[in-house]
Amino acid sequence: MGIGTPIIAFDTLESTNKTAAELLSLSKVQHGAVILAREQTAGRGQRGRTWTAQPGLDLTASVVLKPPALRAEDQFVLGKMAALAVAEVTRMLVPAEVRIKWPNDVLVERKKIAGILIKNEVVGELVQSSVVGVGINANSSGFPEEMTATSLLLETGRVVDVKVLLDHLCKALDRRWKAFENGDDGLAAEYTEHLWARGRWTDLLLDGQCIVARPMDVDDHGRLIVEHEGGAVNAYGLDRLRFAPR
Ligand code: ATP
Repeated sequence: MGIGTPIIAFDTLESTNKTAAELLSLSKVQHGAVILAREQTAGRGQRGRTWTAQPGLDLTASVVLKPPALRAEDQFVLGKMAALAVAEVTRMLVPAEVRIKWPNDVLVERKKIAGILIKNEVVGELVQSSVVGVGINANSSGFPEEMTATSLLLETGRVVDVKVLLDHLCKALDRRWKAFENGDDGLAAEYTEHLWARGRWTDLLLDGQCIVARPMDVDDHGRLIVEHEGGAVNAYGLDRLRFAPR
């Protein structure tokens, strides 16, 4: 069975990732299951940050994945798949430029339309399971200015059916999952092609210090490869590098 079967819908959850992880630990969900919430009371972003969504208007869901034999060092492939699938469904609706902000936010021009939070369970050298949390700003509007956010409604002027959006997302993810299972390594090139700020001198924070560098690509471990002023090229993980706040 593919990704999106079953879809387990809840009215209110702390977070879909939390419930997905709990159900997974109890063996109550298998590969492909999706936890959907109309409302999250404690939606999470990276580094303990908050993800906000309007109850009933936006998409907040988590997909359970069980990779057959994915080495821990290759786990960023899941982030690539998720970001590319979210970018694809966004692009289906939004005419403006859609890009992936490393590691896995989706932007429309400079504005964030979706966030992804992935929690992998690693046992020994292998990723045993993964919970891929996705928040897509579907029908909300009126974001605080400092958030630099947008939604499908704001970009298109049309109300989106969140269940239909989820269905498209599951299909986009499933296609990439099957290609990956069949040994297709096209994900890396696709991710590079859609990388936000690629080749552009950009403000970044390296070990908390402001630097200007050019994102070029990601390596197989998911580190961002940047060219520094002066020409040196290095790869850094999220533990050291991030985009400077806008
Ligand atoms: P940033 O893109 O601000 O550097 P990040 O990538 O480190 O943040 P994420 O974990 O992706 O952080 O998302 C959390 C951040 O995204 C929050 O701190 C908030 O600024 C912003 N945010 C929260 N909810 C939304 C939303 N619905 N749409 C857009 N941005 C949001």
